[in-house]
Amino acid sequence: MAIPHPHVYFGDRIVDAAQASLGIATSAVLYGLSVYTVFPVHVDGSARSAFRLRDHYRRLVESCRIIGMDTFEADWDYGRFVAAATEVVAANGPEADAFVRVSVHVDESIPGTRVRGCHTLVSMFVYDAVPIVPQHGMRLKTSTWRRIPDDAIPSRAKVNGAYVNSVLAKQDAIDAGYDDAIFLDGNGHVCELSAANIFLVRDDTLITPDVSCDILDGINRRTVLTLAAEDGIEVVERTVDLTELYIADEVFVTGTSAGVAPVVEVDGRRVGSGVPGPVCEALRKRHAAVLRADPAHGWVTAI
Ligand code: PMP
Repeated sequence: MAIPHPHVYFGDRIVDAAQASLGIATSAVLYGLSVYTVFPVHVDGSARSAFRLRDHYRRLVESCRIIGMDTFEADWDYGRFVAAATEVVAANGPEADAFVRVSVHVDESIPGTRVRGCHTLVSMFVYDAVPIVPQHGMRLKTSTWRRIPDDAIPSRAKVNGAYVNSVLAKQDAIDAGYDDAIFLDGNGHVCELSAANIFLVRDDTLITPDVSCDILDGINRRTVLTLAAEDGIEVVERTVDLTELYIADEVFVTGTSAGVAPVVEVDGRRVGSGVPGPVCEALRKRHAAVLRADPAHGWVTAI
């Protein structure tokens, strides 16, 4: 699905996608030592804008800090990040909304598994903004694979190697006829999906696992929490039991590539009345609007 548009950013310049490859002996390839983010680009004629770009940059920096990829922050300030993002989008001139995947790779061939001081290389590519989950009512299955805990590979670092965990869960869910998987932690508490955060609504309260529940600190999760609070919805971040999903009035997920998407079934049990609920639908509309224009929060940057 993520087929790059023809021109990509690689190292310090734009090249053809076919020329942008990492060596087979780099730590990025051998150990999954890359961190990444994906941000959305809204296209309106010749005008293009990105959503919460500074937050994506910051999360990339934080991922590098956690992993110990210390050369990225030294070489890439926010201004350079925005300039490169603008350049790769302009080089492809997308005519419709797109996603940009930005990765920081350890591109040295290191004997043994080390990272500090290693050379890093930045790549960026643009691809069509196709959602990764159904948008009008998805069916989820609890995974038998547990979420990798913070004391093994931290979820708040968006590190490529950790996504093997997501692939295992998502593939099992698809093989079983579901759209995606729900990860639980070692104690059976709800974490997130393979690549999206999860919310439930019960008695008009919006509930989501807090950031210390082995989840990615999703940028759209934060966005929805802000929008909901502004709309007067009571918002609670806390530990969530699996059975709470079974008795929720609504369940929905958030993510750059997932959007704000309703869940109509969890483990064979109908969620609420089995159709997308009003809180999800209202937040979905609000979210779609702020992705395009957002004078109130300053989340949208022209690129
Ligand atoms: N959790 C995981 C594991 C993810 O990969 C993603 C997608 N980046 C999310 C949550 C949602 O994060 P965001 O809203 O920043 O896209």
